[in-house]
Amino acid sequence: MTKFIVVAGGVMSGVGKGVTTASIARILMGYGYKVTAIKIDPYINYDAGTLRPTEHGEVWVTDDGGEIDQDLGTYERFLDVDIPKKNNITTGQVYGTIIEKERKGKYLGQTVQFIPHVPDEIKRRLKEASKNHDIAIIEIGGTIGDYENIPFLFAMKSMEREMGKDNVTYVLITYLPIPSHIEEMKTKPTQQAIRLLGETGIIPDFIICRAKRALDKVRKQKIETYANIPSTHVISEPDIETVYSIPLDLEKEKLGLKILEELKLKPKKALNLDEWKRLVSRIENPKKSVKIAIVGKYVDIGDYNLTDSYVSINQSLLHAGAALNVGVDIHWVDAKSFENSKEKINELKDYDGIVVPGGFGASGVEGKIKAINFSRMRNKPYLGLCYGLQLAIIEYARNACKMETANTTENGKTKFPVIDILPTQKELMEKSDYGGTMRLGAYAAVLKEKSKVWELYKETGRLKEDMEKLEKLKKDKNQAFRLGILGKNKNIVLERHRHRYEVNPEFVSELEKKGLVFSGYHLREDNTKLMEYIELPKHKFFVGTQAHPEFKSRLGNPSPLFYGFVKACGK
Ligand code: GLN
Repeated sequence: MTKFIVVAGGVMSGVGKGVTTASIARILMGYGYKVTAIKIDPYINYDAGTLRPTEHGEVWVTDDGGEIDQDLGTYERFLDVDIPKKNNITTGQVYGTIIEKERKGKYLGQTVQFIPHVPDEIKRRLKEASKNHDIAIIEIGGTIGDYENIPFLFAMKSMEREMGKDNVTYVLITYLPIPSHIEEMKTKPTQQAIRLLGETGIIPDFIICRAKRALDKVRKQKIETYANIPSTHVISEPDIETVYSIPLDLEKEKLGLKILEELKLKPKKALNLDEWKRLVSRIENPKKSVKIAIVGKYVDIGDYNLTDSYVSINQSLLHAGAALNVGVDIHWVDAKSFENSKEKINELKDYDGIVVPGGFGASGVEGKIKAINFSRMRNKPYLGLCYGLQLAIIEYARNACKMETANTTENGKTKFPVIDILPTQKELMEKSDYGGTMRLGAYAAVLKEKSKVWELYKETGRLKEDMEKLEKLKKDKNQAFRLGILGKNKNIVLERHRHRYEVNPEFVSELEKKGLVFSGYHLREDNTKLMEYIELPKHKFFVGTQAHPEFKSRLGNPSPLFYGFVKACGK
């Protein structure tokens, strides 16, 4: 039977529930258990696919094509495992299933009600997602006291009744403010969060206290008395420099062992975080540092913290840096700023490398193309991700192949549609069928032997890893379409996708003739090729991919392209 750890947040959101959940999972995995993590998002959206990144942070893509809240990304980065889309449960999915079942007469004449049908469907989904694991850690999104998360807490309590308390443990993560006018850490909001959680019948077994500074003895005891749990179960989690040090900090308080004890489990092996420690210390004290510009578009939306929209790119650069012992100093540069001023583009010379991330629509596109042209002409390392590949193709077509008006049909009609909509996508767009309909998830690409891209996948061990994964994927009939035609090819890799447009096959040979190398493609059942990678052999590092390799980068297992890019930036 799978045991459950339920993580809920008190006081406010944004205190790092996701990284704490991932850290606990990482520690328990280190004790030899098979652990998975599940995210509950109480919003009514079916998934995160149609959410604006500025609203909810980055949209995370899973291997099986889910468009999910970014917390699933945090879990993967900490656990180094692929987590499927069923590990994200939203209110929309729960109600969607119930209504569908009701319409099909599956409730056999019953009145379909909030209780028991909603918690039952939640439990069904939790059991399905946690199957074949020793421990599942469930993070409940939002904050205790939100109307929306009540059904989920109810479901957890009901699960506890079914399974027995030894199989379910509750962790409450709170925040302790230190108001600047008194410089004193306050426990009151935490006390109130404990009380609110109590209203649902849940008494936390552990309270993790996030704060600017570490919790002192006096406050630990205050919480102990109020919550009626031993102060050894009140864990301090002060602000830190890198999220990856959280497992190390939590382990100092022996949280992993305490949770195992609560679940009546014993460590299966000794926890060894030495390699993790080494990587964290490299992030904290790198030997040298490179300065990277991410030329994006969301920069000018209010006071929004842009970095959240590109969190996986940030993390991928960090992972590559940790592997190479190079610090990455990331700067967000507004693509539009290059459109209004001629001189502005020269500011890019202060950077060691340039990334153009994924994106949609015409806004900022001309600025991004200018930045790409700058990297190409000045031999500055360039990494293009999805839209970043498409725009690199447009730049090359315009400036190296004399197709001055080359563009993507995403932004209107053009004589040289070097990037065009996938034929299968056209119909969907005509029907305004936007949700979950892009080319999503992992697709196989055949790499060109001896190309730079191929060398990087080989050097980092990813080629071997993906070839092994392929064997598994082949067995899954539902996923087999992701492979295309592979034949006897040895050089196959898997990366995740999220796009509607692609390199127009009609222009490939013209671009090739002028020196652009297509270093990987996906071969479809109908024998057409979708271009997946480009590179310029004579350039220091000029690589683009139609995929989003940032979704498969983990600490200790960096993404090959980011690894190659950061390495080139350091040279
Ligand atoms: N807008 C482009 C497309 O739909 C690129 C998408 C992306 O960068 N994720 O193909």
